[in-house]
Formats: sequence, structure tokens, C-alpha cells
Amino acid sequence: MAHDEKHNIIVELTDVSKSYGKLQTPVEAVREVSFVVRRGERVALLGKSGSGKSTLLNMIAGLDRPTNGRICVAGKLLSELSPAAIADYRRENVGMIYQAYNLVPWRTALQNVELPMIFARRGKAERVEVARTALTTVGLAKRMGHRPSELSGGEQQRVAIARALINSPELLLADEPTGNLDSSTAEEILESLRRFTDDSQTATLLVTHDEELAYRFSTRVLHMQDGRLGS
Ligand code: ADP
Ligand code: MG
Repeated sequence: MAHDEKHNIIVELTDVSKSYGKLQTPVEAVREVSFVVRRGERVALLGKSGSGKSTLLNMIAGLDRPTNGRICVAGKLLSELSPAAIADYRRENVGMIYQAYNLVPWRTALQNVELPMIFARRGKAERVEVARTALTTVGLAKRMGHRPSELSGGEQQRVAIARALINSPELLLADEPTGNLDSSTAEEILESLRRFTDDSQTATLLVTHDEELAYRFSTRVLHMQDGRLGS
């Protein structure tokens, strides 16, 4: 493989499997999945509920470990990282957004976006400045002092996007990010994910059960069925 091509690979999965439970019949949530994602790609992982999409995404996010196989992201082989190094990886290399936004309810929009920078031990003045800029970029300049309960679903998801991108990750992982939104708000959110991926030349992996959305959003669709990747 040419050096340049290798450099452009952000995610590489090799024969990744995950089973749950040590009973006689464990659940095989993910079975021998292999694929690569390159810089600038928007990849949709499409499959029905229960097909293993979230399990796969959580392993790539470093939240869970495969039973078998290798996951390499941004040059890091996740299975070889210590818990502390996994924490660094999660803070520095990946951003994650969820269907349920997962904002901290008692923190304002600004304070939510500041959070990853607190973990990264950046100073207060810098944090506030960077968080303000990020929230302005996602169109929330006038909502920075609001708590999540005072924001619409679309606004909460934009806060979550700003938070996910604040440490400039190489990879953005999105698990059904528009599942709770009406179609026009969903399209705005997808457009901002598209713009981010294309402008920053990072990669986005989006999980969905919605075929139309998968094709509209992505540059490539991976189909998942019963834990396996098909076509
Ligand atoms: P999807 O995101 O595509 O809906 P999931 O990855 O959530 O699918 O689940 C895949 C399969 O693994 C399902 O059969 C689910 O019940 C099972 N599963 C997921 N998480 C766990 C867990 N923590 N313990 C046991 N089984 C699980
Ligand atoms: Mg899921």
C-alpha cells in the first residue's frame, strides 16, 4: 500500500467480533466485521434495530472492547491502549453524538461545550473563547447561557455537535443523531455534519436504520445485518 493511501486511513477494522454473555448461547452482536474509513469520507452504517450498529460504534469510540479482532483509529491500536490512554484517545481523537444528545442538564450550552476542554486542562479564558466561537459557528450565539431544557431538540443537538468537535477529532461518530428530530431540523443537522466533514477533511461514521437518510448523507453506505457487514 502506498504511503499516502495509508496516511489517509482513519479507521481500520479487521475481523472485529463482539459477543455478550458467557452463557451457552452468547449473543453475537458483531461478527467478523472488516472495513476502512478514509479522511474526508462520510460513511453510513445502515441496518435494522438490533443488527449491531451501536455495539460496533461504541467499540470504535473506545467505550467497549471487541471479543476478537483489531480496531485501529488515527494510528492507534485500541486493544493496546491502557485505560488512561483510552481516555486520551476518546478526548483527542474522536467526537461522538447520540440520538438523545447527552448534554449535562445543569450546565449551560457554553459550559457543556467547555467540558472536553476542561478534561484537556485548557485554561478558562481560552475555553470560553473557543466554546463561544464553536457555538456561534453552529448558529447558537444567542443561546449560550441556556440550559438544555431551555433549548429545542435541534438546538440541543447543535450544542452536542459543537462539544464533539471542540478538540478537533479526526473521527466523528454519530449514533442515530436525528432520530428525535423533525425532518427539516434533521436535514439541518445532517448538513452541518456534511459541512464539517468536507471542510475539515476528517471522517464521519453515521449509524442509522433509515435507508433514505443513509444515502442522502453519505459518500458510502455499509449494510449491517445480524452483526455482519453485507452489501
Ligand atoms: P443496533 O444499534 O443496531 O440496534 P445493538 O448494537 O444495540 O444494535 O445490539 C445488537 C445486539 O446485541 C442486540 O441483539 C442486542 O440485544 C445485543 N446487546 C447490545 N448490548 C448488549 C449488552 N450490553 N448485553 C447484552 N446484549 C447486548
Ligand atoms: Mg443502536
